[in-house]
Amino acid sequence: MTKKTIAIIGGGPSALMLAAQINTEKFEVTLFEKNFAVGRKFLVAGDGGLNITHSEVPQEFIQKYTPNKFIKPFFELFNNDDLRDWLFHIGIETFVGSSKRVFPEKGIKPIEVLNAIISKITANNVTIKTQHEWLGWENENLLFKTPTENTTVKPDYTIFALGGASWAKTGSDGSWVNLFKDNGIKTVPFQASNCGFQINWPQEFITENEGLYLKNIAAACGSLTKKGELAITQLGLEGGAIYALSHKIRTQLNAKKEADLLIDFKPTLQLYAIEKKLSNESKPTSDILKYDLNMPAPQIALLKTYLSKEAFLSAEQLAENIKAFPLKITGTAPIDEAISTVGGIALTEVNTNLELNKMPNHFCFGEMLDWDAPTGGYLLQANFSMGYYLANYFNTSI
Ligand SMILES: Cc1cc2nc3c(=O)[nH]c(=O)nc-3n(C[C@H](O)[C@H](O)[C@H](O)COP(=O)(O)OP(=O)(O)OC[C@H]3O[C@@H](n4cnc5c(N)ncnc54)[C@H](O)[C@@H]3O)c2cc1C
Repeated sequence: MTKKTIAIIGGGPSALMLAAQINTEKFEVTLFEKNFAVGRKFLVAGDGGLNITHSEVPQEFIQKYTPNKFIKPFFELFNNDDLRDWLFHIGIETFVGSSKRVFPEKGIKPIEVLNAIISKITANNVTIKTQHEWLGWENENLLFKTPTENTTVKPDYTIFALGGASWAKTGSDGSWVNLFKDNGIKTVPFQASNCGFQINWPQEFITENEGLYLKNIAAACGSLTKKGELAITQLGLEGGAIYALSHKIRTQLNAKKEADLLIDFKPTLQLYAIEKKLSNESKPTSDILKYDLNMPAPQIALLKTYLSKEAFLSAEQLAENIKAFPLKITGTAPIDEAISTVGGIALTEVNTNLELNKMPNHFCFGEMLDWDAPTGGYLLQANFSMGYYLANYFNTSI
């Protein structure tokens, strides 16, 4: 019996997991990637340490996704422990860092992780065709641009994993959106997530403090709070503590063109304890901030820049501002600089097996779908989980 053919388009982590797991006894599988090589964004993700997943327990893990109901079945089939086991079996040991994030064992470079995954795919007899850019459909055939000529393919099943719309130089430029729109598929405009956010800093503050960090703080937007640190940039603020608030901030920005950020400079101290220290009239306020409250220079600079003299000298008002310092966010960093994007194919367009409702035998998954998660390993985990799930669906149900 001739095997059914599958074309996977895109060579990011989601597609790579699918290609590694799909049953090639049953299907003839070809993966098409427009770049010279697969996994370019995966390697970029590894630049600052490849945070491959998080060690949180599943009940908490799944809460990090928006919408978490969508990701749940994929994560339940292939969770963070399963990913670590899977990596172990292809020769990549992992460890849990102090932040509970999971990384490849020290000394293992991101390219080694990628090569281990590619070896598994090659051993699985999946053909990888690089320098094949999908341009759309031509008479129901998939049309690809190659360095020499355009070529067409007509597989039984087409699976898209084209990525989001940031870091275009890695190949994930979102330019495929219109190809789906033209076929009646609902798409959602791309927006930056896990990105820097814009704050209109007073000139004297940014001149003195650009490049410095607000450390050991807690940042809050709406009901969400995240502890961590923030880098002060010309644009505004960036770093883990604000990336995690991306969804809340974006919702406020979309609704009212600005978002309210509150920073707690002393998350381990209660308001009354701070106020008590500040009430010591025998010491200048600046000395209390610096020596008794151990506040670093940029935090003191923020208080001095933004508060009136009266508020700065009032123990009550100053303590309130130390616990909930308000800043207005007026925009996001340029989308191309974002770690991830939301938008792309609307989730209502795919069924529970990631198949397009309006185009049977065509599937979409990975970051090209409209879901969101903070950094911390949650992005890669979801992409790998979806890839594993889809392979399992093909292996067992088609
Ligand atoms: C700076 C940075 C740091 C990151 N750090 C982390 C981290 O530490 N932890 C974490 O979990 N996540 C991290 N991420 C996010 C993570 O890398 C992405 O979520 C993930 O790569 C998305 O996987 P994907 O397979 O859906 O898409 P992608 O990795 O974007 O892959 C899509 C692929 O499709 C190809 N393609 C696109 N269009 C076509 C076409 N028309 N024809 C053929 N091929 C096409 C692209 O060239 C690309 O190779 C980071 C991202 C960035 C940018």
